Amino acid sequence: MPQFAPVRVYYEKSILTYFQGRALFDQFQDQGIPLIEIEDHNRIPELRELPDIEFPKMKRYLVLGIRKSLRLLPNNRSADFIVPFTSSGCSAMCLYCYLVCTFFKNSYLRIFINRQEMMNQIKRNASKQTRTKIYEIGSNSDLVLENQITGNLKWAIEEFSRLENARCTFATKFANVDDLLDIDHRGKTQIRISVNPPDLIRKVEIGTANLTARIGAANKMFHAGYRVGLNLAPIILTDDWQQQYLELLEELSSKLDDRLQQNTFFELIFMTYGLANDTINCISLPKAANIFDKGKMQPKGRGKYCYKSEIHSNAAFFFQQELARRFPKAKISYIV
Ligand code: SF4
Repeated sequence: MPQFAPVRVYYEKSILTYFQGRALFDQFQDQGIPLIEIEDHNRIPELRELPDIEFPKMKRYLVLGIRKSLRLLPNNRSADFIVPFTSSGCSAMCLYCYLVCTFFKNSYLRIFINRQEMMNQIKRNASKQTRTKIYEIGSNSDLVLENQITGNLKWAIEEFSRLENARCTFATKFANVDDLLDIDHRGKTQIRISVNPPDLIRKVEIGTANLTARIGAANKMFHAGYRVGLNLAPIILTDDWQQQYLELLEELSSKLDDRLQQNTFFELIFMTYGLANDTINCISLPKAANIFDKGKMQPKGRGKYCYKSEIHSNAAFFFQQELARRFPKAKISYIV
């Protein structure tokens, strides 16, 4: 997949006092990419004022700033703590993207330059622990995508390799992992590759890596000694979902390395969909697939929908059966 190349960069002036901020600024300047100074990455009036139809264009912008809130949040799913890390937003346009519910049309990629401060928070937290804790570093963005620009994922994996009582985990829908393969990670990093049927990736996960590339990335990371999990995420119950997901599971069982199949784990995450997604998709991507099946969904909190309980539990049972049949040694970490 081609590297993300921003067409315009917004930056807070204070990033220039950081080595990485200065280097990125100089690089974009040398490439002739327009650089626009801003006061605050959370308040960019000229982007806020753009109409929603500009969403796809805004996804090609990049914002460089300083992350202010560094507080780790306790978690009890894929990690012990969620870390506000080096980026939020992304260049892709998944039709269900949870970040659209928070940032709406402003869910473009933001990179935060004060990475050492974030890592120091993790180190402080880890130093108080009496047993190993897992830190989720990719919950607000896609670090494999971000790594193409900053090398921050490579850096973070190296930092974690030297930490006691700490491991990191992140999920991705991208596949550019070659930069990560020769790191001495010391088993402290876990990658979760999100997978979906090829047709759904093409129509719904716009701008992400295709299934073949993601499976290739899973195999490469496994051969490089990483712990590799697979996220069926998000599971989207289209009219022909059983057929599509059976083909996906067949593809996984034929293309994933046999030893990985014995050692992997699955997370099953059913789609939630926000009214914010619906608004943005209808206005800015009118020809995109409609994944909001109101007949199958019920309200879940303010402005959000999830699959009705019975539909969810029947589908969850289906996946448990089919996964057990094909991947008898693999554990299902959780279903949500
Ligand atoms: S890859 Fe993740 S962050 Fe990027 S658009 Fe898709 S769901 Fe959102």
